[in-house]
Amino acid sequence: MNNDHLTRRDLSVVWHPCTQMKDHEYLPMTPIRRGEGVWLEDYDGNRYIDAVSSWWVNLFGHANPQINQAIRDQLDQLEHVILAGFTHEPVVRLSERLVQITPPGLTRCFYADSGSAAVEVALKMSFHYWRNRGQGERTRFICLSNSYHGETLGALSVGDVALYKETYRPLLMQSITVQAPDCYHRESGESCEQVAERQFAHMERALADHAHETCAVIVEPLVQCAGHMRMYHPRYLTLLREACDRHGVHLIADEIAVGFGRTGTLFACEQAGITPDFMCLSKGLTGGYLPLSAVVTTDDVYQAFYDEYEKLNAFLHSHSYTGNPLACAAALGTLDIFEQEDVIGRNRRLADVMGEALEPLRAHPHVAEVRQTGMIAAVEMVKDKASREPYPWQERRGLRIYQHALKRGALLRPLGNVSYLMPPYVITEEQIRFLARVMEEGIDLATAP
Ligand SMILES: *Cc1c(COP(=O)(O)O)cnc(C)c1O
Repeated sequence: MNNDHLTRRDLSVVWHPCTQMKDHEYLPMTPIRRGEGVWLEDYDGNRYIDAVSSWWVNLFGHANPQINQAIRDQLDQLEHVILAGFTHEPVVRLSERLVQITPPGLTRCFYADSGSAAVEVALKMSFHYWRNRGQGERTRFICLSNSYHGETLGALSVGDVALYKETYRPLLMQSITVQAPDCYHRESGESCEQVAERQFAHMERALADHAHETCAVIVEPLVQCAGHMRMYHPRYLTLLREACDRHGVHLIADEIAVGFGRTGTLFACEQAGITPDFMCLSKGLTGGYLPLSAVVTTDDVYQAFYDEYEKLNAFLHSHSYTGNPLACAAALGTLDIFEQEDVIGRNRRLADVMGEALEPLRAHPHVAEVRQTGMIAAVEMVKDKASREPYPWQERRGLRIYQHALKRGALLRPLGNVSYLMPPYVITEEQIRFLARVMEEGIDLATAP
């Protein structure tokens, strides 16, 4: 078996996610045989550093011995069981630990099998909460511009990345979209905190106008990852929590991408000192091993559904694999590592190295911004540095960086004109410096006339 052989078989039967399949007429795909730590190895023996954590899911490397063992141990006991009317130790232990480590006041865990499904759960639960409380006229959600919450129809409805949303608009709920506090758009001399405060006026107005018909505000705390890794100051979240309370509207924190140490704290909400009404978790929850998501919510929400059966107030949502024991075991193995090692402290040092390694790119004639929040560092490439005019998307310049990186042994997959590092936490300082060099070479190539 070699790369070519497997690729040919793949192209005759597999339809890949987020891909124009015709691209593969000239863009070879990379079949991976095995992974270890930050490394992925293909069938021809080439190795690649997984600089994007396999779409932001991997935390402690591929084939992590400790997580492997946790799954193996569970596999010998119980692979799966219905979670309605039945339970199992991994889901109980995981729930106890999530309640313990998430912000104070979050006391109940509901499970699903993907990030998008968790967002659907949070939206439905919030709507249903208000209905059970006699306010069924609340049917709307407020979200931020440039937000991303997943690909299912409900999640797309509260997202704002046109590339994924526009085609399906006729099928979607109408949400209320408010200008994000994106610090990329700061004025000269303005700090990110000032942008957050200035932009909050839009949220305040939306809440004043729509609170009576609104179930919840949904946000990605601190980093809009799919929206080109745009970042904002935690002050916005503090203001948002206060305003949601004042207007009597739920706050949903989608920490699917930013949770589990990615932004420098275990959860991004901690940096604003807030507790949302719903926290959506997935991606890193299982260390990047198995599909699992959780919505962690409050006793107030839970009590709104707790009633006599005949009242029909129960939350009847379910998925076949809700609370899968193998996935819960992977999550417990992941949380064990957080407990045994000073992951957050080590990440802080790695984040410093990422910042230093990318620093020289600030002076690049086609780089508008180098930005960073914890273990996410992004470089925004533009056609014109002074006006920040972007390269036309049709030119697909990011693709050149991707192709160059593969040749150099790195999986660096830009989002349009934004290249980023979001590596597994087991990466070394030397590997970070290598990735920064590869990114710089890629940007040089991609911006060559
Ligand atoms: C990835 C992501 C989702 C969707 O999760 P899936 O598991 O891909 O369905 C939702 N919200 C955010 C912030 C994400 O990054």
